[in-house]
Amino acid sequence: MRIRIEKAPKRPKSGRGFPDSGEFETLHKIADKVRPLLQISLTKGIISFQGKVDLNETLVGLQTGDISRVIDSVPFEEFAGEIIDLRDPMLAAAIESGEAQAAFLNRSVSRLIPTIPPRFAFNTDNPRIARIIDNRMLLITNSITNETRSAIAKTVTDAFNFGQTARETTKDIADVVGMTTRQATALTNFRRNLEAENFGGLTDVQRRVIAPRTRNLNFRDAAIRGKFADRVGSIDAKVDKYKDRLIKDRANNIARTESIFATSAGQAEIWEQAAEEGLYDRNGARKEWIVTPDDRLCPFCEPLAGVRIPLAAQFQSDLGPVDQPPLHPRCRCAMNLIFAEEL
Ligand SMILES: [Zn+2]
Repeated sequence: MRIRIEKAPKRPKSGRGFPDSGEFETLHKIADKVRPLLQISLTKGIISFQGKVDLNETLVGLQTGDISRVIDSVPFEEFAGEIIDLRDPMLAAAIESGEAQAAFLNRSVSRLIPTIPPRFAFNTDNPRIARIIDNRMLLITNSITNETRSAIAKTVTDAFNFGQTARETTKDIADVVGMTTRQATALTNFRRNLEAENFGGLTDVQRRVIAPRTRNLNFRDAAIRGKFADRVGSIDAKVDKYKDRLIKDRANNIARTESIFATSAGQAEIWEQAAEEGLYDRNGARKEWIVTPDDRLCPFCEPLAGVRIPLAAQFQSDLGPVDQPPLHPRCRCAMNLIFAEEL
């Protein structure tokens, strides 16, 4: 039997902004450990939230052409409660990251900067990190609910242009709750294509002509009459499966981003605590943006590699200013603390 010899993994680029030490790997490990939990909580929260849409209100809103009534049929004020399970794991990841960073700083100052005492220790009694995570939870909630409002508006407009009945669109609205606008479009197109494919062995041209009309003929009502029950049932099952996948993808995206937020926040918090204790010269120190090998090709983060700024300042990017990673969804960047003595 031949044994394949694996090539050694590529070493990260070294130099400023591309660490050859593996500190960011510790943070990534913490982020990767909490990520599945965040994803599961988000998926559950979004699915449960979809079940809370008042479909009668949605229908009346659609029938009367009242978009704000359609949007109000979604109880957005309850969404924060649906995803509350994210909060404690995010806080735990931030604390774990702060503790790991404290241990790392103690090791490096002992080795490199004898004037700084190796007394970095994360104080979990300080309520600030919990506040930071709570604020982030608000941000996540707002971003998902705002995106949902756009997704619903887009779905209603598309349905109207397509000649869908209000009854048909009602189900589409509940389905796109929690999705991005792009995902919402993908889901409704998926259903339309299945319907076009299933009803009659049509050519592409015929399908294009007839598809809007099949919608108008209201196949859902036909199904009730038993005429197309099987085919409609199988379309619904496929759409539900695709919907679940889209929500899982969305949850995964957010979980990736937020796990990096939590670890960066824990890091920044230990820097803050140590500065308050006077362990190092805060004004002289800099935070440095690290583009990790996971994120090396990102056009938004790449220009930030190695950028060093005062601790209270914000990194300036094409996507706007940020205090810390992540810069964008799925960003895997990290930070380093550079002491005044190292500059
Ligand atoms: Zn990045």
